[in-house]
Amino acid sequence: MLCGPSGVGKSTLLKRLFNQYPEEYGFSVSHTTRAPRPGETPGESYHYVTREAFEKLIEQGAFLEHAKFGGNRYGTTAKAVEEVSKLTTKEGKRRRAVLDIDAQGVRLIKQNHAYLNPIFIFISPPSFSALRERLSGRGTETPDSIRRRIGMAAEELAFARTPGSFDAVVVNDNLDRAYELLRALIRGERTSSDELPPEEKEAESAARKALEEGS
Ligand code: ADP
Ligand code: 5GP
Repeated sequence: MLCGPSGVGKSTLLKRLFNQYPEEYGFSVSHTTRAPRPGETPGESYHYVTREAFEKLIEQGAFLEHAKFGGNRYGTTAKAVEEVSKLTTKEGKRRRAVLDIDAQGVRLIKQNHAYLNPIFIFISPPSFSALRERLSGRGTETPDSIRRRIGMAAEELAFARTPGSFDAVVVNDNLDRAYELLRALIRGERTSSDELPPEEKEAESAARKALEEGS
């Protein structure tokens, strides 16, 4: 399970993993009420649904976990994970599902679905300020969406600093280096991990405050 602030580079890293090991891992396609971004493919990036359809799935008990993020809803259905694990590798083993979820999702999976035996990896920005630049640089978000995502990022970094919240941390500074560490962790070739960047107290608490005031 990969978790990390929006814009930190999770999709970029995962794209590399799936290119390198197309038959061993599969992406668990979440449901979301947000609109597709340019370059995203419905059914591959996400299942894009209305709020009503999302509510219905909750009522039906379809979700392993679901959360609110930046004014939208996101959730992982049991079916999404099964769709991956019903496929097999060349050796006839089940493919492993890779999930990209936020900190609320991580907490819920830990509480309710520990039997899935996941590895929890936090993808961290090199610094809080670098994340802001990366998120703006992607050019997909409105100023309000950036504000919300930066506020959530401060929350997620605080969660990641809580001892025991993740099995490993990967700092996505240099993409090649970060990918190699992530790959090795997922393959069980390494267990050592990166250190989280130092807290930027003022900037992080201002971002959290802006999130509370605006939402
Ligand atoms: P996420 O899936 O975590 O929201 P993305 O994979 O969409 O993030 O990446 C956000 C932006 O940062 C993209 O424009 C991507 O090209 C860029 N990016 C990803 N990794 C790096 C890196 N190591 N250094 C600089 N920019 C990066
Ligand atoms: P984005 O809109 O940038 O694709 O995703 C916003 C946030 O939602 C990211 O932190 C991402 O990890 C998280 N997310 C995506 N899918 C799920 C999901 O199924 N469950 C939860 N809890 N979070 C998700």
